[in-house]
This record gives sequence, structure tokens and C-alpha cells, in this order.
Amino acid sequence: MIELTLRPKEQHRLLEGHLWVFGNELSSKPEAPAGTLARVLTHSGTSLGTGFYNPTSKIAVRLLGTECEEITTEFFVERFTNSLQLRNRVLPDEQAYRWVFGEADLLSGLIVDRYANTAVIQMLAAGMDNHKQQICDALRAVAPSLTGIIEKNMAQTRLKEGLELREGIVWGNVPEKVQFLENGIRIETDIVGGQKTGYFLDQKINRRAVAAISKDKRVLDCFCNIGGFALNAAAAGAGYVLGVDSSALAIEAARVNALNNNLNNCFFEQANVFDLLRNHLDNGVQWDVIVLDPPSFAKARNAIGGAIAGYAELNRTALKLLAPGGILVSSSCTQLVTEPMLMDIVYREAARLRKRVRLISRGNQAPDHPVLLAMPETQYLKFLVFDVVASMIDS
Ligand code: SAH
Repeated sequence: MIELTLRPKEQHRLLEGHLWVFGNELSSKPEAPAGTLARVLTHSGTSLGTGFYNPTSKIAVRLLGTECEEITTEFFVERFTNSLQLRNRVLPDEQAYRWVFGEADLLSGLIVDRYANTAVIQMLAAGMDNHKQQICDALRAVAPSLTGIIEKNMAQTRLKEGLELREGIVWGNVPEKVQFLENGIRIETDIVGGQKTGYFLDQKINRRAVAAISKDKRVLDCFCNIGGFALNAAAAGAGYVLGVDSSALAIEAARVNALNNNLNNCFFEQANVFDLLRNHLDNGVQWDVIVLDPPSFAKARNAIGGAIAGYAELNRTALKLLAPGGILVSSSCTQLVTEPMLMDIVYREAARLRKRVRLISRGNQAPDHPVLLAMPETQYLKFLVFDVVASMIDS
């Protein structure tokens, strides 16, 4: 264990519960192997707890929320037990859920998703990467029904931590495709070939909100990935559903999911959403419900302008394509674009088109992705549902 001291007046955010110490907040950055356990002290010598130190990362220390003398399998068993208890309380009987959500579970740099009896682990920081064995042992101890663990360590953020990209089975057997039920729908996904850990678990509850407004409607699911919103709408009795995504692999999986659930009202098309929306506009196509769930448009502050322009274009075109009485479902996973910002974008675009929009419901990331209030970085998903009223004035 090494000790690191903060520069004067850098302790406030940390005292309020934030878990990252940036390199420029430390009075010195000694050489030490990435992932070394460190105690962080205020300038006057009070301990702020321990965490993993990585001198090569901008986030120099990732605090673990408590004082830890050493990081053992038992440490992870305790944390995984706690995080599982929360999931069992807020999402009982789910077959697929985010078991560990990094900082929000006081495990900065670790993500664990569970798909039935398979666990998918992502280590985004050196301290966690160094403890792969203990993490796997602890997961198996807490969930003896697990049959396999796979690591999906392909996120570009690993490079900033000086870590290489790698993926593969780390224990047991992992089927080529995992299957699970979500909202009563059978989902099959390819963990290795698919995006992120294989599925976007954070929209679980929001998919129910789309199901609730889709009966007998024509629903367009933009950025559908392997079918999430589209399948929920179709199962809820939509008249006709079209899901669109640029990934051929995702579209193929979405079609299999529709077939497996006997949804003959649900179709998928591989296309760039921006092009498809313009094309529908040119051809006078109309929709009753349009879901927009694009990927993150900005990872850094200097990209926010471009992200706002992207959301504006998508929402503007979708508003134009809605039939009278239509509903716009506008989501954003860009952490830097806040809910008020997204709301403002929709408001402005609607106002320019002389359409009245009424917010009828809103959501955020599912409760297996809890938000740690001390760390705004843990809140990223916005989900807004608007009733779009026809033109305000006749023109
Ligand atoms: N709605 C999905 C998750 C969407 S993730 C769900 O409920 O599971 C974002 C998706 O956007 C990814 O599947 C990605 O392949 C797709 N994508 C990214 N850029 C795109 C574009 N320009 N046109 C169409 N799809 C795109």
C-alpha cells in the first residue's frame, strides 16, 4: 500500500462521495505499477479511503469507498453480494441484469452483466484488471448457478489506462448465443459478436413504456440493435413495426428474435437511420410512434455541439414523419447531454415546425444501473415520451 497526498483544497468533491482523484489533484505522482492499492490523504493528513492508483491514467486514483487493507476474493464476495441484493429487490426474477455498475456499486472500473447463467465482465481500469481471478472466484461463490464467465474487454477507454484490448472465455462454458427472457420476450444474443456486452439492459423498463403505447399502431424503432423496443411494441399488439439499424449482425439477430417470439408484425431493415428518415420523408411515409435511441454522440465536452446538432436533426425529421396524434420517443445515452438539454432540443424543433409537444412520460436507466448522486458521471440515460399535437396555427 502506498500513500498519496492531495494538494491543498482538493478534498471537497471527494469528501462528498466522488470516487475519482485526478492526477492534477495530487501533490505528487510517484512511480508505481498500474493498479497499486493506495491510501489517499488530504493535504492535512486525513484519510479519504483507499483505491487503485494508476499514474498513467487521467483518473489517477479510483477510490473504493472504504478503507481496504488488501483486495481479496472476500472483498469482491461482499461487494457482489450487496449489489446482487439490490438487483433482487428492485428487479426481482430478472434473468438478465447489470449485476455490477462500476462506481455506483463502489467498484470503479468494473462492469458485470448477467445473462441467465453466463456472466460478462468488463474491466475498464488497471486495478480491476489485475484482480480478474479474484473477481471470477467471487462471482462463482456468490452465484453458484453460473456456468460460464466471459471477459469483454474491448472498450477503447482501456487504452487510456494502459491496458490492452482482449476478449474471451475466462471460466466454464459460454454458449455461442445466450438466451433469456426480458419483459416476457425471448431474447437471443451473441455476446462476442454483439455490441457492448451483448444487449442494452439499461432500456428494460423504458421498453415497457413503448409497449404500453403501441397497440394497433405503426411503430418505427430507430437504432433498434437486436430489436429491444421493436419486439416489445410488436408483442404488445402493434399493427406494424419496423426496426432499423446500421449493423448487419444486429439486424440478423433482431430477425431471429422476432421469429423466436412468433412476431409476424415485426420487420427489420439494415440502414443508416439518418438516410432512412429522409427517404421516408421524401416518400410521404407516416408513423404513429417513432423511437429514437441513437448511440452516444459525444464522449468529450468539445463534441457536445455536434451531438446537439445530431439530436436536433433526428428529432426534427421524426417530428415531421409523425401522423396526427403521433408519439415521439426520444432517448439519449450521451452523458454530457442532460435531460433539460434534450427536452430543449425537442421543444425548439417542434416549435420551428409549429407543433405542440406534451411530455407524457419520462424514464432513465433501469434500476440495475443505479445513479450515485455524488458522481454525475453515473447518470447517462434519458428517455422522453412526447404526444405531438398537430400544427399550432394553420398556415
Ligand atoms: N435501441 C437499442 C439500443 C441502441 S444502441 C435497444 O433497445 O437495445 C445504438 C445502435 O445504433 C447500435 O445498435 C448501432 O449499431 C446503431 N447505429 C449507430 N449509428 C447508426 C446509424 N447512423 N444508423 C443506424 N444505426 C446506427
